[in-house]
Amino acid sequence: MSVEVAVIGAGAAGMMAAITAAAGGARVVLYEKNERVGKKLLATGNGKCNLSNVDMDIAHYYTADPRLATCVLEELSVSDTVRLFNGMGMMVKEKKGYLYPFSEQASTVLDILRLRMEELLIEVVCGCEVVAIERAEYDKLRVKTVDGNIDSYDSVILACGSRAALRKTDVFGGYRLAAALGHSIVPVVPALVQLRCRENYMKSLAGVRCQALLTLVTDGISGQKEQGELQFTEYGISGIPVFQFSRLAAYDLLEKRDVAVDVDFFPDYDDTAYKELTEERYRFGEGKALADFLLGMANKKINRTMILLSGCKGTDIVARLGKKKIEEILWKYKKLRLHITSVNSFEQAQVCAGGVPLHEVSESLESLLIPHLYFAGEILDVDGRCGGYNLQWAWSSGHMAGNAALRFRLPD
Ligand SMILES: Cc1cc2nc3c(=O)[nH]c(=O)nc-3n(C[C@H](O)[C@H](O)[C@H](O)COP(=O)(O)OP(=O)(O)OC[C@H]3O[C@@H](n4cnc5c(N)ncnc54)[C@H](O)[C@@H]3O)c2cc1C
Repeated sequence: MSVEVAVIGAGAAGMMAAITAAAGGARVVLYEKNERVGKKLLATGNGKCNLSNVDMDIAHYYTADPRLATCVLEELSVSDTVRLFNGMGMMVKEKKGYLYPFSEQASTVLDILRLRMEELLIEVVCGCEVVAIERAEYDKLRVKTVDGNIDSYDSVILACGSRAALRKTDVFGGYRLAAALGHSIVPVVPALVQLRCRENYMKSLAGVRCQALLTLVTDGISGQKEQGELQFTEYGISGIPVFQFSRLAAYDLLEKRDVAVDVDFFPDYDDTAYKELTEERYRFGEGKALADFLLGMANKKINRTMILLSGCKGTDIVARLGKKKIEEILWKYKKLRLHITSVNSFEQAQVCAGGVPLHEVSESLESLLIPHLYFAGEILDVDGRCGGYNLQWAWSSGHMAGNAALRFRLPD
C-alpha cells in the first residue's frame, strides 16, 4: 500500500513537495484555497520568474539557523534544481547569475509543474481551504476542509506560504493551522517591500530613478548598506536596494526604534574625491545662479529638492551664497537622510519575514511537536534577498519535505 500524503498549498513549495512525494511512490492530494494552482508564481520576476541564483551563499538568507537552512538548500541545490526542471522539459537560462526559464515566462514554470503533477496522477483540489489539521488514530493526521470534508493521511506537508501579496480582504490561515498544533510563530512582517518616509518633499521626487548607495540607520547607528537603482515614490522609496533591507527596517520599526536611510547619490566618489569635485565645481561655477550651478549633478527633481532644503532660491548667485553654504548643499548629495515611518503593507510585499521557527522542525523539516507533519516554503521563518533566493528556498524545502513525508510506514 502506498503512503498517503496531503500537501496544503499549491504554491512553488507545495507543488515541488507534491511532485517529489508522488515521484517517490506516494498517493498525493494537493489542497489549494485559490481556484487555480501557482497564482503567485505567475507574478514572480515581473512575469519572467527569477527561479534561482548561481550564487547560493547562505549570507543571502535571513534565518536564525543558517546550518539547517544550508542543509535544506543543499538537499536540492541550484544545479539539482536546474537538472530537475530540465528533466521535466524546461530549459533554464542564466543572466548575470540570475536563473530564469528559457522562455522568460513565469507561466512556463507553472505549466511544466502542472504537467508533471498530471503525469504523476496527483489529485489537485482547488478552491478548497484547509481549516484544521488534527492528530488521528494510527499516527495519522486528519485534514479538515472548509466545506466540511475530513480525510486522514500518513503525512501532511504544510506549504501555505505567507501573507505577502495577499489583498487586505484575504484571510490567511496558514499560521493559525501551525499554531493550533502547538507551534509558535516568529512575528511576521512584510519583507522585500517599499519604505514610507516622513519628509514632506517626497512627492516632488516621485518618479526619479537613480543609482545610489543606501545605508540603513537604526537609532542613529549605521547598519546594512545596499547599492543599486533607487526609486522615489510619492510616499517614500522603492527599488531593489530598498527591498534588500526592508525586513530589517520592518523589525526595527516593530520594536519602536528610530529608523532612517542615508542616501548617497555619488557612491563612486569617496569623501576625498567628492571634496575635490565640489571644490572644482565651485571654482568654475562661482558666477552662476544656484539652479544652473547644480545642473548636471543629478536628476532635475533632486536638484530642485536640494535647493528647497537649503532654504535658498534657484536664482541666488553662487559666489554670494559663499563657499561654506555651497559645500553644505553639495554634501547633501552625499548624505541625504530620510526618516522612515513605516514599511508598506503585506499586500505590496514580495515575501514575509517570520513564521514557524526552524528550531521547531527536524533536519528533514518534520515538526518536532507533531510526527509526520512537515513544513515547506515561506511559512517557515526563512526569507531571502531579491534574486531568486525565495523560490530556491521553496524548491529545496518542498523537495526535502516531499522526500521526508515518504518515510512514513504503516505499523506492522
Ligand atoms: C510580485 C512577486 C514577485 C516575486 N518574484 C520573485 C522572484 O522573481 N524570485 C524569487 O525567488 N521569489 C520571488 N517572489 C517570492 C516567491 O514568489 C515566494 O517566496 C514563493 O512563491 C513562496 O512559495 P510558497 O509555496 O511557500 O508560498 P505561496 O506561493 O504563497 O503558495 C502558498 C499557497 O498556499 C495556498 N494556501 C494558503 N493557505 C491555505 C489553506 N489553508 N488551504 C489551502 N491552500 C492554502 C495559497 O493560496 C497559495 O497558493 C516574488 C513574490 C511576489 C509577490
